[in-house]
Amino acid sequence: MSDTSGVKIHPAVDNGIKPATPGFAGGELHCKCTSNPVRVAVKSQTAHNHVCGCTKCWKPDGAVFSQIAVVGRDSVEVISGAEKLEIVNADAPIQRYRCKDCGVHMYGRIENTGHPFYGLDFVHTELSDQGGWSAPEFAAFVSSIIESGVDPSRMAGIRARLKELGLEPYDALSPPLMDAIATHIAKKSGALPA
Ligand SMILES: [Zn+2]
Ligand SMILES: [Zn+2]
Repeated sequence: MSDTSGVKIHPAVDNGIKPATPGFAGGELHCKCTSNPVRVAVKSQTAHNHVCGCTKCWKPDGAVFSQIAVVGRDSVEVISGAEKLEIVNADAPIQRYRCKDCGVHMYGRIENTGHPFYGLDFVHTELSDQGGWSAPEFAAFVSSIIESGVDPSRMAGIRARLKELGLEPYDALSPPLMDAIATHIAKKSGALPA
C-alpha cells in the first residue's frame, strides 16, 4: 500500500468529500476577479461531478486535478461580466469560456449536435459560495496529470489517495460515461439500432 500522507488532489476533496444536499436546485458561480466578476447562474443540480487530470480543464492554483460536473445547457446563464468571457480554443470539442482577467473557466459548452455529450455544459461548482452541489464520484484521466509535469513516481500514491477518498481512478472517463459514448457511436454507425 502506498503512503498517501500529504498527497493533495484538489481543495474540494482533500479534507473529505461533502455530500450533496437533497433537493438542491442550483446556485451561482463567480470568477476570481475582485471587481466586476463574471457571474453565471446554474439553475439545477449538477451531475457526474468528478476530479479530472486532463490538461484542458481549469484547475485552481497548485491543484493537480480539476473538479468538474455537467448540467443541462438550458440551466446555464451568464448574468454579469459576459464581456469578459473568451473561448479558450474554438476548435476544441468543448468550448471553454474563461474570464480574460483572472483566467478562471466559467463553463464549457459543446456546439457539435452530433457529440455524445451535446446538451450538457461543464462547470466547476467550487466557484459557487453555496454548498449542496453534487459530490465528486470518480477521478477521470488520471494518467494525464503526468502531461502537466507530475513525476510518474508519484502516481501510485496519488491513485491510492483517490481510492482512499472513494474516487475510483480511471485513465479515461468512468465506465458508465465511456459506455454512453460508445453507445452513441454505435447507434450512429448502425452497429446498434438507433
Ligand atoms: Zn475574472
Ligand atoms: Zn478535464
